[in-house]
Amino acid sequence: MERKTSFAEAVRKHIGITITGLIVLAGIVAWSEYRYYELKKVVAVKQTDFTNQIASFTASSTEMQNVLATLMSKIDTLNNESIALTGVVQNEKSKNEVIQEQVGKVASTIGSLDKLSKTDPELLQKYSKVFFLNEHYTPPNLATVSSDFSLNKETKYQVHANIANNLDNMLKTAKSQGMNLLVASAYRSYGTQGSLKANYKVTYGAGTANKFSAEQGYSEHQLGTTLDFTTPKIGGVLTGFDTTPEFTWLVNNAHTYGFVMSYPKGNAYYIYEPWHWRYVGVDLASRLKREGKNFYDLDQRVIDEYLLLVF
Ligand SMILES: [Zn+2]
Repeated sequence: MERKTSFAEAVRKHIGITITGLIVLAGIVAWSEYRYYELKKVVAVKQTDFTNQIASFTASSTEMQNVLATLMSKIDTLNNESIALTGVVQNEKSKNEVIQEQVGKVASTIGSLDKLSKTDPELLQKYSKVFFLNEHYTPPNLATVSSDFSLNKETKYQVHANIANNLDNMLKTAKSQGMNLLVASAYRSYGTQGSLKANYKVTYGAGTANKFSAEQGYSEHQLGTTLDFTTPKIGGVLTGFDTTPEFTWLVNNAHTYGFVMSYPKGNAYYIYEPWHWRYVGVDLASRLKREGKNFYDLDQRVIDEYLLLVF
């Protein structure tokens, strides 16, 4: 009986231990569950945080990209505006240049017109039995030839003031090269010419006078740009001037000072006058020399183109 009791007790004791173990185990399981749940919560929070951070980063990156795109487009716009402005500036500049060029042209045209208005067209006119110089024509200003180059020292030889320098240079250069060129006749007024012609008529008779001193000859002296030259080597007369070295010197050099022989040998207009030289300007005189032509051979329209260049 005693043994039975002990067995029952033993069983009771064993069950007690088992229950305790089960309770402990259940506790552990419950704790683990709880920890797992807690950790899961923490992880979830962290994940959300992380996701949010990524989202926020992505958002700010997009924003940055937008800002950058805006800036780039602003730079583009500025560049385009700058290019457009440069174009406008260049356009204005070239417009300005065109205007300046036009102003320059107008100014030079005005200058030319002003110069032309002050240059007597008579100076380059061909005179003949058909075309006369107006009897009232007088040069605007007269200058006196230096007595060093005057045939008659008491006579005041006058020339158109604008040719005085060229004439003086020519005579001085000729002198420096051993030439002794003297002025035998220069400006002659219509009145002087008239009385001179009357004297010739008396001396030689009307027919000879017309040939000797016809209208074109005296017209040219009336301009003040025409001179008769001589040299003491032939006694200061006109006849035979073409046999002197002074004449040869004039033939070779006078054009560089603007002078031409009006009536060379064999001309169809007037008697041969090797002593009679007319100022027509350096440009026209040089052209005539170059082309071997005479002033009276050229068409008046061609001659007129040189009026602006005459002085
Ligand atoms: Zn003459």
